[in-house]
Amino acid sequence: MNGNLIECISVCKHYAINNKAITALSDVSLQIRNNEMVLLKGRSGAGKSTLLYLMSGLINPTHGRVIIDGSCLSDLSEKAISNLLLNRFGFIFQNFNLLPTYTVYENIEIALVQKKMSRNTMRKSIMMLLEKFNIHNKSELFPSGLSIGQQQLVAIIRTLVKKPSVVFADEPTGSVDDETAGEIIEHLLDLKKEQEMTIVMATHGNISEKLADRTIILENGRIKE
Ligand code: ADP
Ligand code: MG
Repeated sequence: MNGNLIECISVCKHYAINNKAITALSDVSLQIRNNEMVLLKGRSGAGKSTLLYLMSGLINPTHGRVIIDGSCLSDLSEKAISNLLLNRFGFIFQNFNLLPTYTVYENIEIALVQKKMSRNTMRKSIMMLLEKFNIHNKSELFPSGLSIGQQQLVAIIRTLVKKPSVVFADEPTGSVDDETAGEIIEHLLDLKKEQEMTIVMATHGNISEKLADRTIILENGRIKE
């Protein structure tokens, strides 16, 4: 192994729409090392979400290889990939994906059902994060009772509560005010330090590059040198 946690080698992703091929990513090669915070910048449509989905094993590349801890994702069994997604990777989705008929608390609790944890320990971890993000007084509400920004916070907490070692965050501050955005980044950077978390974060531009160890810029599906 060469010390890289994730490696993309000449990755391409094409989508077919009405028999027409759309190229989302072309010939992308990059490496992410353990405990790095890497920003993925680029305009809407540049390919940021697609790259996050590929790196986390949610989708497969059309060409090229994605290597995690030295193993090519396409060589891993479905079980091994689900194991990665359940236990090591955390994905913060751009569109939150909260369940409308579950309360804030239950939406977060669902993320922990696979973990062998007592209800009490679960409750403590959930409440600690709800307090950290200052929405503990909303825990019994349904998502529809929250602002969009607060829904984004719940989606972030639902991912972080599992204590993933790698977090893929797709525009995690896209729906909150600047002050809350600053707090989100601060919490993520604290966790990076405390839990040696690796963070790959897509943003179309409102996060300072100074906060990251490295910034990768995507333009029309390619890395801009
Ligand atoms: P970004 O996250 O930077 O806004 P995306 O990765 O979502 O960019 O999209 C990159 C390109 O791929 C866009 O042109 C988009 O229309 C296309 N695309 C993304 N997802 C799909 C999909 N599921 N089906 C078809 N085209 C897609
Ligand atoms: Mg996107």
